[in-house]
Amino acid sequence: MKVLVVNAGSSSLKYQLFDTAAGSVIAKGNCERIGIDGQITHKMPGRPDYKAAEPMHDHTEATKVLISVLTSPEVGCISDMSEIEAVGHRIVHGGAYFSESMLVTPEVIAKLELCRDLAPLHTGAHLMGLKGITDAMPTTPQVLVFDTAFHQTMPDYAWMYPIPYEMYEKYSIRRYGAHGTSHRFVAGEMCKILGRTEGTKIITCHLGNGSSISAVKDGKVVDTSMGFTPLDGIEMGTRCGSIDPAIVTFIMEHEGYTPSEMSDFMNKQCGLLGVSGLSPDCRDLGDAIAEGNKRAKLAVDILTYQIKKYIGAYTAAMNGLDALVFTAGIGENRDEIRAAACADLDFLGIKLDAAINEKTRLQSNIVKISAEDSRVPVYVIPTNEELVIASDTERIVNSL
Ligand code: ADP
Repeated sequence: MKVLVVNAGSSSLKYQLFDTAAGSVIAKGNCERIGIDGQITHKMPGRPDYKAAEPMHDHTEATKVLISVLTSPEVGCISDMSEIEAVGHRIVHGGAYFSESMLVTPEVIAKLELCRDLAPLHTGAHLMGLKGITDAMPTTPQVLVFDTAFHQTMPDYAWMYPIPYEMYEKYSIRRYGAHGTSHRFVAGEMCKILGRTEGTKIITCHLGNGSSISAVKDGKVVDTSMGFTPLDGIEMGTRCGSIDPAIVTFIMEHEGYTPSEMSDFMNKQCGLLGVSGLSPDCRDLGDAIAEGNKRAKLAVDILTYQIKKYIGAYTAAMNGLDALVFTAGIGENRDEIRAAACADLDFLGIKLDAAINEKTRLQSNIVKISAEDSRVPVYVIPTNEELVIASDTERIVNSL
């Protein structure tokens, strides 16, 4: 089945066209700078990348550009959009409405509208992307795959914040988590390696620009570090993660920030960038540390210490640990961060093979990085959220 996967972000719209029978990606690309000017990059195996400036005022216009590129006789890969049998959309926030992927219907769109408040930039982009695809392919089935869905199995004491219950009822303020599609994929791969799902206790560390850690018991999330929004949890590239909430009001008062300025501050000026004063990117920080930069080291020390604390906390929450998984940009590529996060965890049965860990980067296969005598196996599992979206879409459409 040819499945188009659409990932509409706040100012970009990424896409991948899958041939699910062959298990291959036919083409992929990105519409960027939406609402600014607009640029598309389109990639196909064995062909030079195609790049063009195209006006894109919003995500609906971006879908029009992507459709014209996909069907272009010169640079495209299909003659007509009817060749695409289904479309899967990545949806950042499904609130408490969606605990699994859903076929698009008017009722589902109405519920998605209700999630706007929870992720205004993303939900608006998703709805405009959906509209563009629906206009162009009104009879093609579409499926929504939610980043929050995999986390809907958390028990109430893990998702409820200690605030007046009425605030939860009034505004739906609770822990939702994020990166669920990635956690689901790597936890699923880990269960395959362990040979079972029931009875497994796994911690999945999705460490990228945005980072989250999940505790997955019996294949179901029991806790996750991101919360009401993707600002909660561990230190990230530019996000602060969990901080004393009093810091928020203190800075607002003393710096005279409005709520939206404060939100900008916490999302864009904190984390690795804020502490180091240098960069949100671990590659830059690694170089700076090698040159003796103390603030870069502090920024990375905070991150690895927090990862370690989550590993300890989630092992306690699950009363044990059968496997630890690292994924995403940092998790797949930064051996020094994995090593520091796992150092001195031998009391939990975690011991890395230093040599294997050090050379594990930029690989597309699964690698076991723990030592032979480590009681808990530790793996690097490259994530593939688009593949999950394509296979959910195919499964749901095939069941119609
Ligand atoms: P996003 O959350 O935006 O998808 P990524 O998963 O790409 O982010 O993660 C970005 C982080 O991963 C950066 O800190 C970067 O240093 C690190 N990273 C990504 N790719 C590599 C690589 N090839 N080698 C080393 N570090 C990498």
